Amino acid sequence: MLDKPPAAVDPSLLARFAAIVGEKYAVTDPQMQAPYLFEMRDLFRGRTPMVLRPASVTEVSQILRLADETATPIVPQGGNTGLVGGQVPHNNEIVLSLTRLNRIREVDPTSNTITCEAGVTLQHAREAAAAVDRLYPQLLPSEGTCTIGGNLSTNAGSTAALAYGIARSHALGIEVVLADGRILNDLNKLKKDNTGYDLKNLFIGAEGTLGVITAAVLRLVPRPRSVETAFVGVSSPQAALALLGAAAGNAGGSVTSFELMPRSGLEMVLRHAAGCRDPLAAPHPWYVLIELSSQAKNGLRAVMEDVLKQGLDSGVVVDAAIAESLEQAKAFWRIREMFGEAQRHIGGSVKHDVSVPVAAVPAFLAEVDAAVTAFIPGARPLAFGHLGDGNIHYNVIQPANADKEAFLKRWDEVNAVVFALIDELCDAFQADAFHVGMDEVFLIASEHCPRCRGGDPAKLFAKAVNDLHSHIVGGRKIEMLMWADRLLDSKALGYSEWEASRNGTYPALDLIPADIILCDWHYEKAAAYPSVPLLMQKGFRVWPSGWQPLDATRAFSAFARQQKDKHLLGYLCTTWGKVKIADTAQWPPVTEVLPDWKGEAQSPK
Ligand SMILES: Cc1cc2nc3c(=O)[nH]c(=O)nc-3n(C[C@H](O)[C@H](O)[C@H](O)COP(=O)(O)OP(=O)(O)OC[C@H]3O[C@@H](n4cnc5c(N)ncnc54)[C@H](O)[C@@H]3O)c2cc1C
Repeated sequence: MLDKPPAAVDPSLLARFAAIVGEKYAVTDPQMQAPYLFEMRDLFRGRTPMVLRPASVTEVSQILRLADETATPIVPQGGNTGLVGGQVPHNNEIVLSLTRLNRIREVDPTSNTITCEAGVTLQHAREAAAAVDRLYPQLLPSEGTCTIGGNLSTNAGSTAALAYGIARSHALGIEVVLADGRILNDLNKLKKDNTGYDLKNLFIGAEGTLGVITAAVLRLVPRPRSVETAFVGVSSPQAALALLGAAAGNAGGSVTSFELMPRSGLEMVLRHAAGCRDPLAAPHPWYVLIELSSQAKNGLRAVMEDVLKQGLDSGVVVDAAIAESLEQAKAFWRIREMFGEAQRHIGGSVKHDVSVPVAAVPAFLAEVDAAVTAFIPGARPLAFGHLGDGNIHYNVIQPANADKEAFLKRWDEVNAVVFALIDELCDAFQADAFHVGMDEVFLIASEHCPRCRGGDPAKLFAKAVNDLHSHIVGGRKIEMLMWADRLLDSKALGYSEWEASRNGTYPALDLIPADIILCDWHYEKAAAYPSVPLLMQKGFRVWPSGWQPLDATRAFSAFARQQKDKHLLGYLCTTWGKVKIADTAQWPPVTEVLPDWKGEAQSPK
């Protein structure tokens, strides 16, 4: 826990540490120490005077108290599966291995919780949950070895994070030993705990810097009654993203995993991982592994088929295979899980575990591949991972026949190229709002849309809006704005055909999320515009909008201003291209109709 390199530890002090756990569990033999010092890819090798293997929280507390009193640096370690070397004693620190704290203290299916000690492996926790017909939804390829303490300390991601969140979302309470040996018991089981500060979240993701996690109460969820898995060939990450939108639209919360893989990675796995075979007949540039799961026993297969059919019809999906058995589903997953392991066979690789906004993934991949290969000609980028939550493993593999050691020495330089791009992209995608024009959905349910013919216009329209909403807004803090005219009943409101729905889409108003900002658009002069109060009454925020400074616009603006409602946002004046592009660049969102509007090309002050 200290930054500076420690001096050699005094043998008498080592004996005091050993006395806490007993000689047998104070490992000094180099051969027996090896598994604690080398991480699996052999990228980080450490050295230590002693590996301590306590069996109880009291022993952990005594160790940390002694370490604190004697300023002895300690590195906590769980399953030693971390890929960035945080668990490795780089500076001769004592290793504090938590693997003997491996008891499951309680499984409570009524409260839907499991209380595990830190050294319980993820697989063990999942099996214990399954034994009472529950699911512990953290899922990692390293589950057989990584531990609950390590998962929480790294705030690990998950192939099921799309549906259930990452490690932090699963913890209800934790038990931690602080650096001075004090034990903080916050083993809370309550879902609703609104008592002051949420201390556990300080320790989750802290990688042992603030204390050693010794136990945790984890939230369990009902076990899915049906699961469908598909291996899908797509042409590009952009196509994969479109498929994610379709999956979210059709299957909603049932989309548990959505993993992206490139062809180069599949070939690597087929060459180096025994027993894997290509699930599809022909090669495709990219693949997606989709998993849907549901509490309903029946019907999920049809949902998966719908998602894929929609993808095939729109050209997003090129080919797909749905697993016909549990074995086949496991075979699909094995391909994805072997991406890490198989890389070892093709040379050194510089790793990045990055998260970018979901919508930014295709742009990120295109730009970062170009930047990395320009920086190291011949370098082989390998990007794969959880497209569903924007978390991508971006690895750069050494050029064929290059010297591995010389390549890996450039680790930091490659990191700098990748991270600079991520910062840029994240900044670019910090947009607060996206406006959805009606042109995108204008033809829905009209006679010009052969695929919609015969369908319910409102439902078709609502589906398009909901797809866009989940695509654009997702879990992010982005506002979606759209024109309101397709949501208004012209007859009931007395509006002209251009100001309201012309093809029966208006009932969609009750089928879309009320967090969309509706830009209510009018250019007929009237005494009242009943849509404004109606939309606000339904909980929408409304941005009254008009076209140029016409009389009608002024009348509408005046009416809108009378509405004293927190749901009413400013006033938007648009110009429909009758303004110089150069002028528009100067504008913030235009929120006022100017009384002294002079001409088409004049921009507001
Ligand atoms: C094949 C493979 C796939 C993986 N996939 C993913 C993935 O998709 N997403 C992801 O996030 N990770 C992934 N990982 C990385 C790794 O498995 C996770 O980070 C895991 O959570 C680490 O758990 P661990 O018990 O092995 O911790 P360790 O590797 O032992 O430790 C990790 C860090 O946590 C600290 N630590 C460990 N235990 C404690 C404790 N009890 N108290 C305080 N600090 C502690 C250590 O000091 C270190 O800094 C993968 C690893 C492998 C090998």
